[in-house]
Amino acid sequence: MSDQAFYSSLQQKLATLKDEGLFKPERVLASRQGAEVVAQDGRTLINMCANNYLGLSGDVETQKAAAAALEKYGYGLSSVRFICGTQTVHKELERALSNFLGTEDTILYAAAFDANGGVFEPLFDENDAIISDALNHASIIDGVRLCKAARYRYANNDMADLEKQLIAATEAGKRHKIIVTDGVFSMDGTIAQLDKIVELAEKYGALTMIDESHASGFMGATGRGTHEHCGVIGKIDIITGTLGKALGGAMGGFTSGKKEVIETLRQKSRPYLFSNTLAPMIAGASLAVLERISKSTELRDRLHENTAYFRKEIERIGFTIKPGTHPVVPVMLFEAPVAQKFAARMFDLGVLLSGFFYPVVPMGQSRVRVQLSAAHTREQLDTVLKAFEQAGKELGIIKN
Ligand SMILES: *Cc1c(COP(=O)(O)O)cnc(C)c1O
Repeated sequence: MSDQAFYSSLQQKLATLKDEGLFKPERVLASRQGAEVVAQDGRTLINMCANNYLGLSGDVETQKAAAAALEKYGYGLSSVRFICGTQTVHKELERALSNFLGTEDTILYAAAFDANGGVFEPLFDENDAIISDALNHASIIDGVRLCKAARYRYANNDMADLEKQLIAATEAGKRHKIIVTDGVFSMDGTIAQLDKIVELAEKYGALTMIDESHASGFMGATGRGTHEHCGVIGKIDIITGTLGKALGGAMGGFTSGKKEVIETLRQKSRPYLFSNTLAPMIAGASLAVLERISKSTELRDRLHENTAYFRKEIERIGFTIKPGTHPVVPVMLFEAPVAQKFAARMFDLGVLLSGFFYPVVPMGQSRVRVQLSAAHTREQLDTVLKAFEQAGKELGIIKN
């Protein structure tokens, strides 16, 4: 406590963040997560900014499955997996995830952040090349940093640039090459062109890896993910993803692929070896979620119906959105102050959404991001659309 200058410099940096409008306050909820939430001040809001795609976060069936696992397996393990932290429920979940994703084996982590942080270093070294999309998630970027492989970056979703980087890595004589991409990019709702990526990988003898955090459970005809959506099930080498979004929403992550890959990670992946086991109630609830969505596509279908409805209606009202089909719907407001005012006004009107400005998105691309859920009713979506219309007119974004 003797270096006062350290604390003053932090205070200054925090003040600068606030001055620049980049300080992120936390919204405190007084209820469970869902289509409607209660704010700390007691107001009910329609929630349009959770990753609760299938509506399972506050869902009673999910909660009951967690409670059953809590009852059977207890609260926690106080151990890493390889010492005394593996229960039958963890092995069952790993098997179920492999079946669901169409892979040989799966390893669980405390978070997708850890899955991505621990996937590269055990598998690749300075003789290899990692070819990564420029907009990949922060956890992929950090994971790549922890690994000695050469780094190549291609412009977001740009297949010509990807091919250029594949040629560069080939000419540099790299032993193994792996193309790494988010299955879905969460700022724009862009879906990676996995069919073309797989083609390029075959042409240049490269491996492929996708992060399915914004896809597992609802992309593709039966919700398997982006690889199902793009018709390349069985052709992706490594799949990472989260249990903290569509697949229940508590926390947890996974890496899935061929058994020798997963076995190597069990032996060498540091966030797995040196971090506690996923709580059994989360494993049990995730297992129940996978069983439920494997039996019926009802939730996935409702999510896509809600998405199609919202995308069509918001454009009809006169807003500009990024085109697409994903439940992430960026409503473009372009200028940062407009987006800020708009999000604040929507909050007054009872709608919770998040605004994004530079540097999170490029200058002039400010927006509010809407995320649809299977839990939204048509009535709630109509209320949200009415609020959009009102706020849009008030702020002169759309015409009367
Ligand atoms: C949310 C997200 C993660 C992190 O997931 P956690 O399980 O919360 O750590 C990783 N990758 C992508 C693409 C994400 O969207």
